[in-house]
Amino acid sequence: MRSVVTGGAGFIGSHLVDRLIAAGEDVIVLDDLSTGSEQNLHHHAGNARLKFVRGSILDVDAVNDAVGNADRVFHLAAAVGVAHIVRDPLGGMLTNVRGTENVLAACAQHHRKVLLASTSEVYGKSPRIPMAEDDDRLLGPTSVPRWSYSTAKALDEHLGLAYAAVGAPVVIVRYFNSYGPRLDERGYGSVIANFLRQAHAGGPLIVYGDGNQTRCFTFVDDTVSGTLAAMDADTNRGRIFNIGNPATEISIADLATRVLEASGQTAEIVRVPFADVFGPNFEDTPRRVPSIDRAISVLNWRPTTDLAPGLSATARWWADNLVAR
Ligand code: UDP
Repeated sequence: MRSVVTGGAGFIGSHLVDRLIAAGEDVIVLDDLSTGSEQNLHHHAGNARLKFVRGSILDVDAVNDAVGNADRVFHLAAAVGVAHIVRDPLGGMLTNVRGTENVLAACAQHHRKVLLASTSEVYGKSPRIPMAEDDDRLLGPTSVPRWSYSTAKALDEHLGLAYAAVGAPVVIVRYFNSYGPRLDERGYGSVIANFLRQAHAGGPLIVYGDGNQTRCFTFVDDTVSGTLAAMDADTNRGRIFNIGNPATEISIADLATRVLEASGQTAEIVRVPFADVFGPNFEDTPRRVPSIDRAISVLNWRPTTDLAPGLSATARWWADNLVAR
């Protein structure tokens, strides 16, 4: 079996690559290193099972080459994270829409099964808890750049489902706030990375808003297990699965304290209005909890790592790899 992993040098992608290689598979990574890093795959240097292609999903030829040389495709490459999208809405939209169009078209042309990595951001600010795959979405106006991320990823899902409707093997996963070793130290898409960086810099830890907003954090090993389970089951064509850990719901203010504990650091925690960080036009999602009933019943998958051990492992990795350098 040979898999393409777009975004395979990224945080989740590189862990997925590890798991595929450990299972004896061949992997082609297509990554433009915009937010990914070769360092994340460094431990595979010299391994003939891994081929790294530095290229963008916006490059149709690079996508076609990779897809044509593999049996299946994990499409994880994306412009990720709300802060990133708010800073560069155009780049984010182009990568997330055109890039995915390219990947899906190549997979359809070569008859390859494809898993699309989507995001809990598609639910927007929906007040319905827990969030289930077929729930309504609730977004703010197009003048709020944040919602362009949700819209672009939802369009990706629509495209994937449209291909599935004409017979292409497409499966979709929605990730809920994944974290773990190899989080990007610049904090792309991860409050935990920002808090760890700030903790080791002597603080302060910057909580946006009042800190009462909650998220559920999914340890990356669980994210990868869910991804593989979704890809592997044959009955999943055209289906969407939440991949998250509802047992870990925590407010961002409490998370700041837990990150300090896990990292053994002491620092001040300060609250900053959203407007100071993102400008006047910003809305946050107040609460986000996945329903994982479908993943449990169809994929026989469930997360196994609680927040405490997950944060410890992440903080340990951070100290060993980013602080001790
Ligand atoms: N957040 C924060 N400080 C940061 C980064 C994020 O307080 O440095 C908040 C953010 O406003 C959101 C939550 O933490 O309410 C999770 O943010 P993240 O960017 O990790 O993911 P999101 O859930 O927004 O996609």
